[in-house]
Amino acid sequence: MPKRFFFGMLASTEERSDSGSTDSVGALLALMSGRRTVALTGAGISTESGIPDYRGPEGRLRKRAPVQYNDFVRSEGSRRRYWARSAVGWGRVRTANPNPAHIGLAALESSGAVNGVITQNVDGLHHAAGSRRVVELHGNLAHVVCLGCDARLTRAEMQERLAESNALWLAEREAEDGAIESAPDGDADLGDDVYDGFVVPACGCGGVLKPDVVFFGENVPKPRVAEAWSLVDDAELLLILGSSLTVFSGRRFVYGAGQRAMPVAVVNLGPTRADDVAVVKVEGKLGRLVPLIAERLG
Ligand code: NAD
Repeated sequence: MPKRFFFGMLASTEERSDSGSTDSVGALLALMSGRRTVALTGAGISTESGIPDYRGPEGRLRKRAPVQYNDFVRSEGSRRRYWARSAVGWGRVRTANPNPAHIGLAALESSGAVNGVITQNVDGLHHAAGSRRVVELHGNLAHVVCLGCDARLTRAEMQERLAESNALWLAEREAEDGAIESAPDGDADLGDDVYDGFVVPACGCGGVLKPDVVFFGENVPKPRVAEAWSLVDDAELLLILGSSLTVFSGRRFVYGAGQRAMPVAVVNLGPTRADDVAVVKVEGKLGRLVPLIAERLG
């Protein structure tokens, strides 16, 4: 049974620093020591792999709202816009490598300090780093599913189909490459006037092809949520790494920890929606802090 814990701020840093104060890191190590920990990760753990987040100090708020599930399913224009941006932005996710934070977290699992990872990310970098028990709450961009017949293909196969149907269009985007900014979720910011000529390939059955990720307006599949709760139930500490917790599907685990009287700790650059309940908040860069924690607890 998890211990009852006082939900107050034990240590934090006022000033913004990249490496966390010695006090707050020490408090986190003390808290994690001998306490099985489940990690909940967000976009912030992948920024040092070159994948932008939504709300970080170096991230930026989206210029436009992300695609909604209903729009994607009902509107051909919405699908064209999604796949056009993804055809350009996918390369950055495909070629991204795990950074020291992903690798440090995998080491913490190997040493038994961490029982698993619940991630809101869709980039597959925890698996690539060697983490074994990973619940990808929002799915993985590497897979594509047909909404008509449930056929599955890899994102690499989808990229081939996109490239075959849009060779000229992609060549034009390549020519303006320097002017195109990457956006979160394997997306790229393109001007409004470029989508018209883009062709979206359909499944062989004629059905709509969708990345196998959870869009806004779509629920996380129940078995996946249940698997995440089983990791929480098997842990004694919830450790938030690189998430503002703005999205409810991640934030719910903070509420769940409260109901279980389980302590919550946060390592993040900038504010999160768990700061008021965190026993420890370490303000700093994950690429430096997670390997340090792994080394000390290993
Ligand atoms: P978020 O952008 O809301 O929050 C990220 C947090 O991480 C910010 O507070 C930021 O300051 C912090 N951060 C950034 N770089 C950091 C670093 N190096 N060290 C420490 N902290 C750092 O992201 P979220 O809470 O995960 O919610 C966004 C949603 O978007 C999620 O549902 C996720 O699925 C999706 N998303 C995924 C990816 C990905 O797969 N890599 C990328 C962007 C968005």
